[in-house]
Amino acid sequence: MPRHTKIVATLGPASTDPHVLERMVHAGIDVVRMNFSHGKAEDHVKRAEAIRDASMRARRPVGILADLQGPKIRVGRFKEGKVTLTRDASFILDANCQEGDATRVGLDYKDLPRDVRPGDVLLLDDGLIKLDVERIFGSEIHTRVRTGGELSNNKGINRQGGGLSAPALTAKDMDDIRTAAAIGADFLAVSFPKTAADMYMARQLMRAAGGKALLIAKIERTEAVDNLAEILEASDGIMVARGDLAVEVGDAAVPALQKKMIRAARERNKLTITATQMMESMIKSPVPTRAEVSDVANAVLDGTDAVMLSAETASGNFPVEVVEAMSRVCLEAEKSAEVTLDRDVLNRVFTQIDQSIAMAAIWTAYHLKVKAIASLTQTGSTALWMSRLNGGVPIYALTPETGSRNQMTLFREVYPLLMSQTHQDRDLMLWEAEQVLLDQGVVERGDLIVLTIGEPIGSTGGTNTLKIVKVGEHPPPTQVTTLV
Ligand code: PGA
Ligand code: MN
Repeated sequence: MPRHTKIVATLGPASTDPHVLERMVHAGIDVVRMNFSHGKAEDHVKRAEAIRDASMRARRPVGILADLQGPKIRVGRFKEGKVTLTRDASFILDANCQEGDATRVGLDYKDLPRDVRPGDVLLLDDGLIKLDVERIFGSEIHTRVRTGGELSNNKGINRQGGGLSAPALTAKDMDDIRTAAAIGADFLAVSFPKTAADMYMARQLMRAAGGKALLIAKIERTEAVDNLAEILEASDGIMVARGDLAVEVGDAAVPALQKKMIRAARERNKLTITATQMMESMIKSPVPTRAEVSDVANAVLDGTDAVMLSAETASGNFPVEVVEAMSRVCLEAEKSAEVTLDRDVLNRVFTQIDQSIAMAAIWTAYHLKVKAIASLTQTGSTALWMSRLNGGVPIYALTPETGSRNQMTLFREVYPLLMSQTHQDRDLMLWEAEQVLLDQGVVERGDLIVLTIGEPIGSTGGTNTLKIVKVGEHPPPTQVTTLV
């Protein structure tokens, strides 16, 4: 069985060397994440080329996820690069301060003093440092250090409980959306959205720039948790962005939220990525901790489409080994996962023909215990429907569209394959589909498979046919029919 859960790996200095990148793809990367918090447009263009290159050489499809920086609210810079804050000391966040020291530091989001109140708790550097807000004086936020530690340039600031008013899309994000469209990003991750409107806006900008990326909402604000249903509606998927989320809602609340969010997304036919610190210790160590192994395995059992690596592959010492380790843990967890069709399948409301075929295909595959499902698809939507139902049967999605193939890299249980589009003849098309599966070694002659296709051939978005096929049963059709 191929691995069902997908691996997203963030690129950075540790994964720039083309040989390393290729080894990472071989080790099992499905999607790479380009972090738009770092680098210029031309760096992203180069990086995207390097990825497509590595994907070609490794003969493995790799999706590209462009992750916008968003309005991360940060402290400014320090004269010495960093300071050490001690417990009970006073510390000022000052929108007008240029160079910080142990008593005060600047702010890149100048409106922060208007958003906070005495009594608020501010968390810096993903919660490593805690400040109690005592007073606001114009542009200055006076605080008392509750948890001290080292604080360096440009570390993030969150308010416990959320409620910061910075808009989700900054001017930089809007430029970056154009870059993402230009490089043909397959996914666009929007950072810190609070409402569905943020996602609609990003989608509009992406469309206007001519991009086709699927939209992923990073759930990392308290408001986004409250508005999850409408954000899901407006997005193609979500990222459980545990780094910022833990700071906003409290770390102990995150595991239950992760389960709830994954369930909610799957029910609405949306995608999920579980992210942050999954293999954190492997930044420095060649093996994961027991806790990390459990974390990855539990995300798999929660039903996530993908697990994500951040600094582990961007700046860590073991960018290849960490992908191998993650892959191994996913595979083992999948073996132990109980395969039962989602109980609510029968209660689902569906009105579309392709949805009905997807349901029927999974139902049939599950009960007949077929070897594989083969879905001939233009857009990938039939494969998405199928992958939400937990049928436990690998879904080989055959498409002539490179864009669809790359987007399907993120779908759990779906294995995208490219096939030619030259046939207008149904029998020839079905025969070629079988050949692709045989060539890939995923089925053998005599295996039972379930096949879905849209008829008439060549029309887009109309899966309407389900076929149960014994591989190799039919002789190759004579090629006298229409070849366009
Ligand atoms: P980030 O998002 O790595 O861009 O901050 C993920 C998270 O917050 O967990
Ligand atoms: Mn984040």
